[in-house]
Amino acid sequence: MVMVTSSAPGLRGTPVVPGVAFAPALVVRAEVSPEAVARFDELAYADADAALAAYDGAAQAVSDGFVRKAAAASGDAANVLTASAGLARDKGLRGAVRKHLRAGEGLLAAVHAGVEQFVTVFTGMGGLMAERVTDLRDIERRITAHLVGEPEPGVGVPPVPCVLVAEDLAPADTAGLDPALVVALVTEKGGPTSHTAIIARQLAIPCVVGVAGAMTIAADTPLLVDGAAGTVETEPDAEAAQARVGADVATRAALASWSGPGRTADGESVKILANVADGESARSAAGAPVQGVGLFRTELSFLNRKDEPSVEEQAEIYAEVLDAFGGDDRYVVIRTLDAGSDKPVAYATLEGEENPALGVRGLRLSFENPGLLDRQLDAVQRAAASTGTEAWVMAPMVATVAEAAEFAEKVRARGLKAGVMVEVPSAALLAHRMLEVVDFLSIGTNDLTQYTMAADRMATDLAHLTDPWQPAVLQLIAITAEAGRRAGKPVGVCGEAAADPLLACVLVGMGITSLSMAAAAVRPVGAQLARATVDDCEDAAEAALAAADPLSARDAVRAVLA
Ligand code: PEP
Ligand code: MG
Repeated sequence: MVMVTSSAPGLRGTPVVPGVAFAPALVVRAEVSPEAVARFDELAYADADAALAAYDGAAQAVSDGFVRKAAAASGDAANVLTASAGLARDKGLRGAVRKHLRAGEGLLAAVHAGVEQFVTVFTGMGGLMAERVTDLRDIERRITAHLVGEPEPGVGVPPVPCVLVAEDLAPADTAGLDPALVVALVTEKGGPTSHTAIIARQLAIPCVVGVAGAMTIAADTPLLVDGAAGTVETEPDAEAAQARVGADVATRAALASWSGPGRTADGESVKILANVADGESARSAAGAPVQGVGLFRTELSFLNRKDEPSVEEQAEIYAEVLDAFGGDDRYVVIRTLDAGSDKPVAYATLEGEENPALGVRGLRLSFENPGLLDRQLDAVQRAAASTGTEAWVMAPMVATVAEAAEFAEKVRARGLKAGVMVEVPSAALLAHRMLEVVDFLSIGTNDLTQYTMAADRMATDLAHLTDPWQPAVLQLIAITAEAGRRAGKPVGVCGEAAADPLLACVLVGMGITSLSMAAAAVRPVGAQLARATVDDCEDAAEAALAAADPLSARDAVRAVLA
């Protein structure tokens, strides 16, 4: 494995998409030209209605632009762009702008005030809605550009391959990216779950986010970006940099040829599983070298539903996923509804909670509404019976042993294997007692990190805290894995941590028995694990646990596994 060199001056951030790239910086400043704004006469309209008509025209043009980009994109990128198209034409936003115009404000001031009003509301809602603040500010800039007669700001088509450097990228910027021309992404803000990160993962563009000082990089500075190490070296030795890129290409080619099953270099079996959202993603994941599904996020099928689907309809949806994994000793871990917080489901989520991430989400919804869980379990039972695929069922957001016991009783009454997710630190600390009442545990490192570090997983400014390499998070994972070892029961990881090849080895060294991840991460993780013995993994775990912070933990583990 290639080591991080420190010969060139550099910056560091949170690694999001692995890969090494070397190219000049294209620094994107997402603001409209201040001169054009200064020239604009915002009181030139006859009255508030005339100004509102100008706003409508600009908002429509911005929305049309998003629609065009969405049509040229696919998957997550298309969804993100379609959502932005709707937000640009949002009636509430228009109403806020009209109110400020009628109060006598100039047009640009009214647009700004209207957007800020929405920013406050979205920020207050937290979670996914807070993440949309970047989109709102992007929409304001685009509408402003149309009003003052400038081209929309953001990323144009770069003339040569470049490393895109920005404060934070708006969905419209990331979605239209051509990986042949944008060879890496570096952002000053943004966390591992930001839009930049989501799109970079989809396009497999090496990406580092949360890089302090990124915006001080001068345009055209040669940059060497290592998306696995989270490093951005400025003006490195060109020959050495090209060699690093070459070595990375060779490594990636070797990774792509891994064909399973999951095991260490000395033959210890580790189940490699996929995270899926519905039948379509399950069918696609079934083609990857995986032994089943470690996390089926059932709530993702219901995000746009007003009313609870019937047991029959739910059973059909679950059966589609189970069907994709029939035979061959494969199994599917179905997670019961994790509605609430960043995944609002209209028919289940409570309204107006002060702090939804700490509120009634996941299993907690069944405290007041047990029928919701009972009907879902009935549907899972039917789907398992109709497909014959082995179904395990687990609950999200479990905090006490009593919750786990009650859940397990309901699941076992339907002849299914019962487990709970470890997402709340209390569940990790009491993992040994949880394992007395359930058949398996699955660690959701996304939420476990959020709750351990008291840092919103969607907060773009807290990427250094929402990092599963944080020593406190690693300790809790180690406690949970050790409890599994002692009980002789499976303990998996299904959060984003399992998709990080280096961290995957650390987890196995702690005693984790399965790793579940987005299908795209399966081969890199499987291949990395196949190169390490159990002893290597245990040494990696020890090194990670002993490190003072995430960056030194990554460096220490990289040195152990080199
Ligand atoms: C997690 O929290 O790590 C997890 C897998 O669940 P989700 O990301 O769906 O909250
Ligand atoms: Mg979770």
